[in-house]
Amino acid sequence: MKIGFIGLGIMGRPMALNVLRGGHQLTVWARRAESMQPLLDAGASGAVSPAALAAVVDMVISMVADAPDVEQVMLGEQGVASAGRAGQVAVDMSTIRPAAARDIAARLLDKGIDFLDAPVSGGEVGAVAGTLSIMVGGSEVAFAAARPAFECMGKNIVHVGDSGAGQVAKAANQIVTGVGVLTVAEALNFAAKSGVDPARVREALLGGFAYSKILENHGQRMLDRNFKPGFKSWMHQKDMNIVMQSAHELGLCLPVSAATAQMYNAMVGSGLGEEDSIAILKLLERLSGGAD
Ligand code: NAP
Repeated sequence: MKIGFIGLGIMGRPMALNVLRGGHQLTVWARRAESMQPLLDAGASGAVSPAALAAVVDMVISMVADAPDVEQVMLGEQGVASAGRAGQVAVDMSTIRPAAARDIAARLLDKGIDFLDAPVSGGEVGAVAGTLSIMVGGSEVAFAAARPAFECMGKNIVHVGDSGAGQVAKAANQIVTGVGVLTVAEALNFAAKSGVDPARVREALLGGFAYSKILENHGQRMLDRNFKPGFKSWMHQKDMNIVMQSAHELGLCLPVSAATAQMYNAMVGSGLGEEDSIAILKLLERLSGGAD
């Protein structure tokens, strides 16, 4: 299949590489030329704009940042819609508000383009290994068309429901992971401030009901004090904001998410936005009288 990939950052670059390795003909576009270079070196073609990319592929995939970015590459000047064809499939794999995904889907459908929201979980590690969890919202027909591309990037591929349903699943995922990272940081900070080795505490917890992938992976990175992103804190703030905005629209009570969202706000306000979300440990340490 001829596939176009837009957005070649921490996640998009390895995902696009896996699409290429899967035997598809790949065309890429990125805002900055240097982001495209590793893909060009690997055998992909480059396009000068999202529109130029859309003109030569069967399916477009975007992996950018937030809803305005998806709107820009899909529907903006020189966007996918300006050169896309009826019957084409466009897939956005970024994490954005479910309502924004539904709106973009409706506007692309006006041009005959079938849109899927297909956000992912599994982080940079999963993107490199091609083992992402992919949560898809949209039509059965578009899902079937996109499945071969999804299989290059992920292992657990679930068609969750209609347009926006993938983003609802991802927001639920971010509740669990956002709260999870915070609670692991709290537990390790609690151990350290109690004068006990947090590494031994983590080791003890890994065998019981407190086990989680977050305790295992993120917990280890907290112990290593490896704050290189990964998943930038401002991205997790964006995702908790998506959760809280949806809760506001629906009149939902999400007390734990609300407290967690405040912590991610404080991370960005404290200058930790570009560090990995596990730097929430640093924030807790500061609030507990410890230094970085
Ligand atoms: P990233 O490293 O910052 O990459 C985002 C890429 O999108 C950058 O290359 C950026 O281009 C490009 N981009 C952003 N806005 C754009 C626009 N308006 N027009 C054109 N290009 C644009 O971020 P990431 O970690 O890969 O995350 C991408 C998406 O995946 C986000 O929605 C995030 O929430 C989601 N996600 C991330 C992870 C993770 O662990 N990192 C896991 C699951 C989901 P420039 O290089 O020019 O800035």
